[in-house]
Parts: sequence; structure tokens; C-alpha cells
Amino acid sequence: MLGDLELFGLSLSGIHTSLTLPQLGIAFDVAQGLPFSLKQKKFFITHGHMDHAAGIPYVISQKALLHEPPPIFYMPESLVLPMTEIMNQWEKIEKHDYQYEFISINEASEIDINPRYFIRPFSTVHRIESFGFTLFSRSKKLHPDFQGRSQSEIQNLSHQGQDVSQTHIEPILSFTGDTQIEFINKSRWATEAKTLVMECTYLDQRKDIAHAKTWGHTHLDELLLLLDELKAKDILLIHLSSRYSIAEAEKILLERLPKKHQDRVRLFPGQ
Ligand SMILES: [Zn+2]
Ligand SMILES: [Zn+2]
Repeated sequence: MLGDLELFGLSLSGIHTSLTLPQLGIAFDVAQGLPFSLKQKKFFITHGHMDHAAGIPYVISQKALLHEPPPIFYMPESLVLPMTEIMNQWEKIEKHDYQYEFISINEASEIDINPRYFIRPFSTVHRIESFGFTLFSRSKKLHPDFQGRSQSEIQNLSHQGQDVSQTHIEPILSFTGDTQIEFINKSRWATEAKTLVMECTYLDQRKDIAHAKTWGHTHLDELLLLLDELKAKDILLIHLSSRYSIAEAEKILLERLPKKHQDRVRLFPGQ
């Protein structure tokens, strides 16, 4: 749970990654088109590797089958044309026209989810063009100029047409997709969210940092050095290599995380 928002999903390196926030109708990556992601409306695709994006055509076909509104996919620009070509081929195979939207993103994009929430992409560092996403909340607060005034005074000013509020935005959740640790230097807001969902594919000496970098991934050794400076209250690790069972990974984390960070850094999904 993230405040009153539920986070749901699956993630395993090279196998599948898709996380959803069902109350907002959004998904980060779609894996192969897993059942829990099919109900969402807006899909934020980090990059084009199959374990994250192969389900795009399937999600589109399921939406058509269920007579739901066409799904919207936000994705790196380099993915839009190839994905459109893939859909054109599926339309030929199935002799059916599909409705969908592919929208390319960059770091200046801002995508409204509803009046209370919006998303900004941030660049990540992977073997192909890739982005992460930060979910922001937006709320109105009393403007500092009017603080200390009585309730009735503020109501009167407001009735007279004076804007007594200011918009407060807060990064709630960042989701990285696949990336090297260097994503933390790429965007101001990527690591400012209360909850940081980040990939950490390798946990111990069986694969070293150089190996992680070769494949565009993050090693726990790198994260350990940064825990003190990362602002996130909670850090959820995804995209674990399938060489670790969950029980084994949790044991490694318990052994390797400094005590003060043990409640803060967890696997997602856990046991
Ligand atoms: Zn992956
Ligand atoms: Zn990847």
C-alpha cells in the first residue's frame, strides 16, 4: 500500500515485469499481458524488452474483445514505430482493425491521470532507450500569504474571487523499469518520491557489478553505497534474477543490509 493506493504486480528478471495501481487504472509495463494488468486504462512502458512489453498487442486485443475503450500506451519514441508495425501485422493475421493509442514520451512529458494525480517520465540507463516514471499527487493548500487568517475571512476573500490556495505537488512513487544505478543522477524527481520501486537484478558475488553494467542492470553492491543519501522512505526492489529464490533473496538482504535500512528496503513482491 502507498497511502491509500494499492500497488499490485509481478516482477522477475527476463521473465515478466508489470505493476499496477488499480485505483488509478494504470500499469507500469505489461509483461506478457497478465490478467491483473488487462483492466487498466493507461499503460506506461519503460522500454521494449519482451519481459516488459510483449503483452502490448494482447492488451489491445483483450480491450477490443471486452468492448472497453481503446488502451493508451506511453512509451519511448523509438518503440512507437516498431510496435505500430507489429500491430499492423497482427491486424493482417487476424483480419481485424484494432483501436489503440501509442504516445511517445520524453522528460518534458506530463500525463494527467485524474485531477489528483499525474505522471512524469525520467530517463534511465539501459541497453536500449528506456524511461522510468514518477507518480505525483496534486493538492490545493492554503497560500502562505493567508495563513493565520480566520476561516470566515478566508471564505469572504474566496467569495470575492481572490485565489487563496496554491497547488502543492508531491512525488509519491517512482518506478524505474530496467536500469543501471546511474539513473539516480539523471532526473531531479526520480529519487525524491516517498516510495522508490527500482530494479536490483543481482544481490551477491555470483554476478559482479561489471556483469550488471554489461546488461544494463543494477547490483545490490551499488545500492548499498547510496542508501544513506537516497531520500525515499521505502525502497522496493524488483526484477530479481531468477537464480535467487525469494527466500534466499530475503536471507541475502537480511545479511547485507545495514540494520538501519532493513525495514526500508524490501523485495517486491515479497513472500
Ligand atoms: Zn527486464
Ligand atoms: Zn530490459
